[in-house]
Amino acid sequence: MQKTFSPSSLNCFENCPRQYYFRYVEKLPVESEGIEAFVGKRVHEVLERLYTFVGRGMVPSLEQVIYRYHVYFAEHYDEDRIRIVRKEMNAEAYRKNGTRCIENYYRKHYPFDGDETLGLETKIQFRIDEVGRYPIRGIIDRLVRARDGVLEIHDFKTGRRVPRQEELDKDRQLGLYELGIRDQMGEEGEIRLVWHFVQSNQTRVSCRSDAQRDRLKRKTGLAIDAIRTEEKWAPKESGLCGWCEFRGVCPAFAHEREDEPPPRTDQPDLFAGASSGK
Ligand code: SF4
Repeated sequence: MQKTFSPSSLNCFENCPRQYYFRYVEKLPVESEGIEAFVGKRVHEVLERLYTFVGRGMVPSLEQVIYRYHVYFAEHYDEDRIRIVRKEMNAEAYRKNGTRCIENYYRKHYPFDGDETLGLETKIQFRIDEVGRYPIRGIIDRLVRARDGVLEIHDFKTGRRVPRQEELDKDRQLGLYELGIRDQMGEEGEIRLVWHFVQSNQTRVSCRSDAQRDRLKRKTGLAIDAIRTEEKWAPKESGLCGWCEFRGVCPAFAHEREDEPPPRTDQPDLFAGASSGK
């Protein structure tokens, strides 16, 4: 069982308890990676590098930044390991998507002097309750002091979808990061949560009230309790299964494997006998 919980591990459990079990309890080795996650990592690496140079007083040109992205892409890309699910796409189309993300961000923020970078890929670890029952960890893409003095938590998103403002105002990931920053830095003033949806070139901002922060703490505690008391770890099929790295061992897809019979519908607990991991 996990000792600390990240926003992505909480999402994972809610999307599919069995995927959570494979990833965080059994810790099965992962031999493949979806290309969307692969491109997202390369774009994050390049933006981190860009701001590292900016912090040293050197602003690389757009051509240099894109060249670096292509180098990282080529160095890490392995067609036997990277999975492409969408039939209408190929590796080159994804590489171009990543290039567009970087171009959009660069052109919008050049010459990168609108704020001060306080941290890049900053690790946080904290507890949301007084007695320490609910430990949380995370990594903040970019921690920023804005021109008006307000602390900002920036997150780069490379996916196509831009959530509605109401969704972002309830977003757990950056909401938890805010709690972590308040805990670690003792910040008591306003903190802005900022998302850069770099593929669609849109920025969104959210600020939370005390009541919203309290609600987030309560709901996160309940989410962790649900994981700690889980016993069945049942598969939950959805559109996400196409991207799941454990589909090849998932009982819900046993019928896809030649040597396994189709799952029985009269079997209440597909995971009978497995360790709960507690
Ligand atoms: S393939 Fe689908 S049901 Fe199976 S573990 Fe993955 S997400 Fe869950």
